[in-house]
Amino acid sequence: MKPFIREKKAFGFDDIPEDTCYEAGYLVTINAGWRSIRPVVNAAKCVGCSQCYLYCPDGVISIRDGKAVIDYDFCKGCGICEKICKPGAIEMEAERR
Ligand code: SF4
Ligand code: SF4
Repeated sequence: MKPFIREKKAFGFDDIPEDTCYEAGYLVTINAGWRSIRPVVNAAKCVGCSQCYLYCPDGVISIRDGKAVIDYDFCKGCGICEKICKPGAIEMEAERR
C-alpha cells in the first residue's frame, strides 16, 4: 500500500477566511465565564501582522483596520496570542467580573 502523502500546496492570506469562527457560524455558544485572564490588545503596538489571528485555536481574532480585535464572547484566555505576538502588543490581564 502506498503511504498517504499530503499534497503540498502554496497558499496565501487570500486563501484564509478573514472572519472569526463565530462569524463563520462554527462557534455559537458564548463561554460560561470560566476565563480567568483575558488578552488585551495595545493598538499602538499592533502592526496588524495577523500572527495572533492565525494561531488563535478558537479563531476569535480578526484584523480590523489593520489592528487585531478579539471577540471576548468566545476567547477562552489560553494566552497563545500573547506568546505569538512579537511586537508585544497583547498582554494577558486578570478577568474583569
Ligand atoms: S500578532 Fe500582535 S502585532 Fe500581530 S496582529 Fe496580532 S496583536 Fe497585532
Ligand atoms: S487567549 Fe487564546 S482563545 Fe483568546 S484570543 Fe488569545 S489565542 Fe485566542
